[in-house]
Amino acid sequence: MSVCWINGKFVARENASISIFDHGVLYGDGIFEGIRFYQRKAFLLDAHLTRLVQSAAVLQLTLPYCRQDMQQAIEESIKRNPSKHGYLRIVVTRGEGSLGIDPASCSKANMFIIADKLSDTDSSVNKSGIRLIISSWRRIPNDSLDSRIKSLNYLNQILARLDAKNANADEAILLNHAGFVTEACAENIFIIKNKRLMTPPASDGALDGVTRKLILDLAQQLGIHASEKSITPYDLYTSDECFLTGTGSELIPVKSIDGRSIAHCPGPIFTQLKNEFHQITYGEINND
Ligand code: PMP
Repeated sequence: MSVCWINGKFVARENASISIFDHGVLYGDGIFEGIRFYQRKAFLLDAHLTRLVQSAAVLQLTLPYCRQDMQQAIEESIKRNPSKHGYLRIVVTRGEGSLGIDPASCSKANMFIIADKLSDTDSSVNKSGIRLIISSWRRIPNDSLDSRIKSLNYLNQILARLDAKNANADEAILLNHAGFVTEACAENIFIIKNKRLMTPPASDGALDGVTRKLILDLAQQLGIHASEKSITPYDLYTSDECFLTGTGSELIPVKSIDGRSIAHCPGPIFTQLKNEFHQITYGEINND
């Protein structure tokens, strides 16, 4: 069962719809957030709402609800969800307008929330590690579409994911135009080399991931050297450990990249971080 909230009202799934003239539908003109909730509490909600507000600011998209109202709608959606752990999607579209791209023709943004369950990230394939390939599609450069905007337009990532599926792999990595690693299609990427944890900076074309930030902070607390650093395919292939992070995916170890086996999967530093993450989310500690 999905809980659906649209513009201030909870509606049945079959009545949950927006106009075909919405520029979110016509042009991908909109933004979103994916938020997990554990024990009926939205995880890292503040960071997600901040990113939503910042994406809206860049797109000059006036959010139809204030932060407090959004928070209330989220809390109520979680309350109505049958299970205590789950996933929320918050979407803000430019709203209904004319057929031209001009956002000025859209008088009011639409906002909707879906609360649902996600497939188990601790499936056997995720536990034993996934196989990555490097996509032939490059990440759209930040000077064309800043990777920190979490927009409704995921064609770049979908093309890369198709590359992965066509190669019988689980997920793809996108490089930027300088040949540096950015991220996977819907997850950030980390490598460990000589006990040092590294992830590409947002300026290389990565989303400023909320889970990524948590992992960087956790690593620091655990005394693991962690930094944002440009990474090349060579660094990936020769890493001691590699893993992906994301709200939906949580932490997933990587087994191989372009057919090259990663030395340790799941490796010791990944396991340490994953245990800590699990404690914070499903366990006793609350990091929110
Ligand atoms: N990169 C992209 C392109 C994403 O869509 C996501 C979210 N699914 C991530 C990284 C991970 O970000 P977060 O940890 O904030 O969910």
